[in-house]
Amino acid sequence: TAGTVGDELNQNVYVVGGFVRDLMLKTDNWDIDFVTEGDGIVFAKALHQAVGGKLTVHPQFETAVIRLSSHITLDVVTARREYYEYPAALPKVEKSNIWSDLFRRDFTINCMAICLNQSSFGDMSDYFGGMKDLQNKSIRVLYNLSFIEDPTRIFRAIRFAARLGFHLEVSTRQFLQQALQNDMIRRLSHDRIREEFLHMIREQESFHHSMTLMKELGVFQALHSGFIVQSHTLERLKGIRFAMEGFRQLSPSSFNQTVVMLMQIMSEVPPAYLEEVCQILVANQTLIQQMMKSMNQRDTIYHILKEDEVDRFTIYQLLRPHTEEALMFFYNDSDDPYIRHYIAFYLLKLRHIQLTISGNDLKSLGINPGPIYRRILDNVLKAKVLGTIYDHDGELKYAENL
Ligand code: ATP
Repeated sequence: TAGTVGDELNQNVYVVGGFVRDLMLKTDNWDIDFVTEGDGIVFAKALHQAVGGKLTVHPQFETAVIRLSSHITLDVVTARREYYEYPAALPKVEKSNIWSDLFRRDFTINCMAICLNQSSFGDMSDYFGGMKDLQNKSIRVLYNLSFIEDPTRIFRAIRFAARLGFHLEVSTRQFLQQALQNDMIRRLSHDRIREEFLHMIREQESFHHSMTLMKELGVFQALHSGFIVQSHTLERLKGIRFAMEGFRQLSPSSFNQTVVMLMQIMSEVPPAYLEEVCQILVANQTLIQQMMKSMNQRDTIYHILKEDEVDRFTIYQLLRPHTEEALMFFYNDSDDPYIRHYIAFYLLKLRHIQLTISGNDLKSLGINPGPIYRRILDNVLKAKVLGTIYDHDGELKYAENL
């Protein structure tokens, strides 16, 4: 249909980028990118007439998106050339042809186009050797300043290498490292770094691999000299998804997996640098404070829970101030079987225990309000957590299912 629409408008139309890459790799990709030589918005409107869906146009960028369903998106761009006024700047754009549109892209494997017009339907434009690099499982930039011009490509290179199980071609790796040595990554705004980092986290299956490459290439240290990631952390990242899945199955939870992963990845950052590193990866200031509070108390918590006999109320009081995400992080991060056992016990059981009486109940029993209320309520809570009650004779009884 897109080809016919292009023919009617007398515009050349191509599918490009990730869609072509994944087509060649026989992987599903429902984010379909079209490039037209001509007016992209006119084309998008005509395509929308033909295929339906929800159209959004961005006249200032000469791009449009047609959302066909929750998982099928058609992106339309007007073929364009991009140039950078200075390193790490957002690019300036001008209308151009398919060659220039492909040349502005990141890696050869993302630079292939297939023509959709009837006269050349299916013709592949592969000016930069993308097919060969797909076969060689190689991530390769088009020119040596690519990472300098747009350092977000450092993250993209790592993400694609990890996702596809490809390697960085030798010169590409050198260009990437030169860009790191020149501190290019620090020229990116925190927002742009964060966006790239979150992309990696979302690709859960390759997250461990991408973090391993980040460490190997020195990207963490380039982001912040205190961003220390050691092999313990990488090891811990491996199991994190399964640990969380296990808990989800045992107890319905809605915790945010990304936060757990972020805490784990920052778990070896020295306290003095923790806030600065958090500010790079997390935007929400309340969340930063929460994460830091828990991470700073980690050693104290481990120290107390290391013992083989810790009573339920100590566990309850110790862990109650922390979010589920922090508790999942402690669980995943620790090697100690006792610590893991107590945290699991808290997450699955103790944390559901709550007081069901209040000051009003005490009032209706005729007890005069005062500091005694706090003491009574604390003691009732303690008794519930410990699984004990007193019968009428004041004798201690065990009541597991209170
Ligand atoms: P994914 O499967 O992750 O969606 P994708 O290749 O479709 O992969 P997008 O981020 O959607 O990735 O980008 C679409 C296309 O735009 C890419 O294939 C690439 O050609 C180009 N592109 C995206 N970001 C950049 C960038 N920073 N520099 C150059 N080209 C880019």
